[in-house]
Amino acid sequence: MRVAIYANPGSKSQSVKEKLEKKMRDRHFILDMENPEIVVTIGGDGTLLSAFHHYRKQLDQIRFVGVHTGHLGFYTDWRDDEIDDLVISLQSDNRQSVSYPLLDVWVTYKSRQPSHYLALNESTIKRTSSTMVTDVYVGGEKFERFRGDGLCISTPTGSTAYNKSVGGAVIHPDMDVLQLAEIGSINNRVFRTLASPMIIASNDWITLSLMESRERKEDLMLTVDSKSYYNRDIEQIRYKIAKERIRFAKYRHNHFWHRVQEAFIGEEDGN
Ligand code: NAP
Repeated sequence: MRVAIYANPGSKSQSVKEKLEKKMRDRHFILDMENPEIVVTIGGDGTLLSAFHHYRKQLDQIRFVGVHTGHLGFYTDWRDDEIDDLVISLQSDNRQSVSYPLLDVWVTYKSRQPSHYLALNESTIKRTSSTMVTDVYVGGEKFERFRGDGLCISTPTGSTAYNKSVGGAVIHPDMDVLQLAEIGSINNRVFRTLASPMIIASNDWITLSLMESRERKEDLMLTVDSKSYYNRDIEQIRYKIAKERIRFAKYRHNHFWHRVQEAFIGEEDGN
């Protein structure tokens, strides 16, 4: 089996990486960063996001495994003191996987060729200097005119990330849906939006048609997971569930709501 070990640069992650590499060499795994079948990430959810973008063109050949060197993450199931168990699981690999939806982002511009991105967590669009105004279409039908700071469109696995900070719902990742959440919408007697997160079915898509600003559109910021793109002459953005999916090696079952509870609620203090 060809395995890539993708670690963040922190000293703890690098030390776990060295240990894991040695154990894998001793057991005759092929360490292959170019063309792996399994990518083991060592770090946090951010490290897995980074590995996802690094290998985004090979997603159909790759299954991911996340080892966390800090707190339990949403993409990282294994503790760093469990690498012996992880090596045993890799040795008896049965090729089983669990897969989750990704977000397809298609952007058209006034004066240049369209661009295309794939997000694991979310994509946001914001205007940095003044109110962002955009028409929001669902499945090709106009739904509302949004005025505010911006919009966040997330996947189910991304629902616990930025989406949660802006009041979006946490979604079980077995569901093939997208979520549209508002960031600082203006709602008064003149301007009106739904002002609630919307869950969009798998066969629908969202189109944002951005209004000309009195200034120029150069202060629009498009984010795709950790990356930000500024100064783009964006006309429309179409969001839909991608045909690609991310796959994780399924060596043990992790209960999603336990993970949510551990991350956000923690131990009960008895009150
Ligand atoms: P970062 O600013 O270094 O990390 C952001 C935090 O988000 C980290 O604690 C990371 O966990 C956590 N995270 C990432 N994916 C998650 C997920 N699916 N569920 C729950 N938590 C998650 O940036 P980064 O590491 O490059 O990650 C980029 C992500 O940061 C974006 O995709 C966005 O979701 C998030 N973000 C959030 C806000 C906000 O909440 N206001 C603002 C900007 C960006 P680890 O510590 O395990 O890496």
